[in-house]
Amino acid sequence: MKTLILSPHTDDAELGCGGLITWLIERQNPLLWIVFSTAEESIPEGLPKDTLKKEFLSVIYGLGLTETSYQIFNYQVRKLHHYRQDVLENLVQIRDTFKPQLVVGPSLNDFHQDHQIVANEMVRAFKTTASIICYELPWNHTKFHTQLFVPLKRGNVLKKYQMLANYQSQLNQNKSYFSEEFIFGLAKTRGVQCSAEYAEAFEVVRWLL
Ligand SMILES: [Zn+2]
Repeated sequence: MKTLILSPHTDDAELGCGGLITWLIERQNPLLWIVFSTAEESIPEGLPKDTLKKEFLSVIYGLGLTETSYQIFNYQVRKLHHYRQDVLENLVQIRDTFKPQLVVGPSLNDFHQDHQIVANEMVRAFKTTASIICYELPWNHTKFHTQLFVPLKRGNVLKKYQMLANYQSQLNQNKSYFSEEFIFGLAKTRGVQCSAEYAEAFEVVRWLL
């Protein structure tokens, strides 16, 4: 299944669907992973502006993916609403060239301003051509509908945690959602809901068989 992963910023997809990404790679599904902003403007002082880009590339190559598996746009962080039409046109071009069957992106219930733009334009671009599911970033939601579960093994969740370990610039800020306890805890919670060891949950916007 050709799968398009949409990440407003580096690390969003790893946090929301890192387990699914490892699950898809294990099953040799062709992936295209898009990042819209490397958040150069919010890099802590003293670090190079391309720090998050380099950390993201460490994730990509750590997973054994190649340069045809990702694309990075350089929109300014928290300014995606100024470029809504450009984001849509990027997605329409990807729709017409990559032709994904499954699109995975942020939730329409996500309150981060950049995530809202990507979520809306994702639905606008793919609503008639692909299945669309949305990943969970609990700190950005007031509600989340757990409609689809991807059962995971401990190894998948460990790989997800290891993907996030590449983001030293974020780990240095002690963000609680990067912690091992949170990553495994949420995966365990979602696993309990679907009789699996671990899981990730997704909202379903559209499902095409
Ligand atoms: Zn983000």
